[in-house]
Amino acid sequence: MDFVRPYAGVLVATFLAAVAAAVLDGFTFTLLIPFLRLLFGDVSGVVAEAPTAVEKFLTVVVGFALGTDRAAAVRNVVLLILVAVAVKNVAVYTAGSLGAHIQEGVARDMRAHLYAHIQRLGLGFFQRMKGGQLVSRMIADTEQACRIVSAALVSLVQNVILIAVYLAILFSLSWRLTLLTLVVAPAIAAVMRPIQLRIRKRLSKALHDRGEVTAIVSETIEGARLVKAHSAEAYERRRFGDAVENYSKGIVRAQRLAVLAHPVSETLGAGVVLLLVIFGISAGPSGVGMRPELFIPFIAIALRLVSPVKALTQFPMHAEVSLAASERVFQILDEAEDDVDPPGVRACPGLAGQIVFDGVWFAYEPGSWVLKGVDLTVRSGEVMAIVGPSGAGKSTLVDLLPRFIEPSRGQVLMDGVPLSVYGRRSLRRTMGIVSQHTVIFNDTVRANIAYGEQENATPQAVEAAARAANAHGFIEQLPQGYDTVLGERGMRLSGGERQRIAIARALLRDPPILILDEATSALDTEGERLVQQAIARLLENRTVLVIAHRLSTVARADQIVVLDGGSVLERGRHQDLLDAGGIYQRLHSLEMHG
Ligand code: ADP
Repeated sequence: MDFVRPYAGVLVATFLAAVAAAVLDGFTFTLLIPFLRLLFGDVSGVVAEAPTAVEKFLTVVVGFALGTDRAAAVRNVVLLILVAVAVKNVAVYTAGSLGAHIQEGVARDMRAHLYAHIQRLGLGFFQRMKGGQLVSRMIADTEQACRIVSAALVSLVQNVILIAVYLAILFSLSWRLTLLTLVVAPAIAAVMRPIQLRIRKRLSKALHDRGEVTAIVSETIEGARLVKAHSAEAYERRRFGDAVENYSKGIVRAQRLAVLAHPVSETLGAGVVLLLVIFGISAGPSGVGMRPELFIPFIAIALRLVSPVKALTQFPMHAEVSLAASERVFQILDEAEDDVDPPGVRACPGLAGQIVFDGVWFAYEPGSWVLKGVDLTVRSGEVMAIVGPSGAGKSTLVDLLPRFIEPSRGQVLMDGVPLSVYGRRSLRRTMGIVSQHTVIFNDTVRANIAYGEQENATPQAVEAAARAANAHGFIEQLPQGYDTVLGERGMRLSGGERQRIAIARALLRDPPILILDEATSALDTEGERLVQQAIARLLENRTVLVIAHRLSTVARADQIVVLDGGSVLERGRHQDLLDAGGIYQRLHSLEMHG
């Protein structure tokens, strides 16, 4: 509701336009009465012997235009109808466009709010939530949730007013015939309902079958290599053929019912109209004996009543869908914003002396410790290599430094000050992070290298960083050089090229502290040499924590930490650890021999 509040004024205007549209719509139909009377040769315009309330109303409102000669009266009525229809449609347009304005405005505000909120959530949230899920909540669910605004307004309000106006006119034309209509018309709905339900059931089954078809297609695209390797083409073709067959059969079954629905409802409708004609026209005790100029507008309005009533009965269904969607949106909005600083945090001045991990314990889930009392010291300007088997807790350990996660016990100190004292943004500004999985954004090479620094980085600085990262050469070869668009919808880069872009990114920021997660996958010799050289330049004059996979990096480190099962097992320099003949020596010889 908070999202709708800014639009209160527009909301009222929409409401008024909807009311005007409904009233004018009814008014147009009542104008049929004088029109028909004039057509049937009655020159008296609206004056009848036993006028209905509608006719009395018309006499007051438009009587002036109908009193004189017949030709002039006919012209005037036609003109009045035209004007009423035109004004009504202006009101319909106004209500519709204002409604759309509100709905999309609310959707935009909600998305912006949701996006800002998501950015304040910790990394844990992004690991829990699947990317696709989050995208669908951002785009589809917000859309769906806001539909309630236009559904409630345009559909609910407009249709309720329309129904009220129509019913008022019908009752004033003939209350007996109106009551009869209200009794027999729902009978059509009662007959149609089972058919409609069957159609919906068959359609939802067909939709499910279509899901199967899509699943098979995407499976075999992703697994194309496997399919070919196992010569399973014929099998997959059969599987796909069966699924497609199933789907098309289901659609035909649903269609058969759907094409049946219309003739049935039309026949029933014709029956009801016939009943109304007999009862409405015939005089005496078995009928109402309506004048034809009243009866024709009556039938017209009664038929018009169907669509707002239908829309109204569908409202709960739409509302339910919208509510479910908004629940999913609010589920995310209710996530605690755990990546924002409380007021009064200090700005991190940078590193002068050392970083200390002091008895750090950490668990993602209560009870299952990933780090078990890690004590480490990294002196300023030192390169510390962290090695150990996969799952040892290496990534978890380095994630503590930028405060992506917080220690469960113990603390991490920078020059004696716990990291929690510092604001996250200022802390993260002192660090560069180069990870195995280089994210390349759908943007130019320049913007990718200057990511986060777009305002400050000059083209010269970007190029200097690219040169130092051994990336300038291949960037020059790209179609538009530094202005070439990269990423999903742009140029694809090789693994080594991506790594060098990431290194250039870090070099440009020139952070005093560097967190490096070396890529495990081997590159070709030339690519490897270029990346190695770039990394060597990146390490110069920095305090570095590196999750090391390359012997050259490990051998050069000032300190090697062997982590296993969340504990530090060995520490020292390369040669010392080799000589000690412990776990490092075993890991090392494993690596050397394959
Ligand atoms: P390494 O980097 O040494 O391979 P990690 O620090 O990535 O090890 O992981 C250490 C342990 O923590 C593993 O058992 C892993 O399954 C677990 N783990 C890592 N990230 C999460 C997470 N977001 N939620 C739950 N468990 C996690």
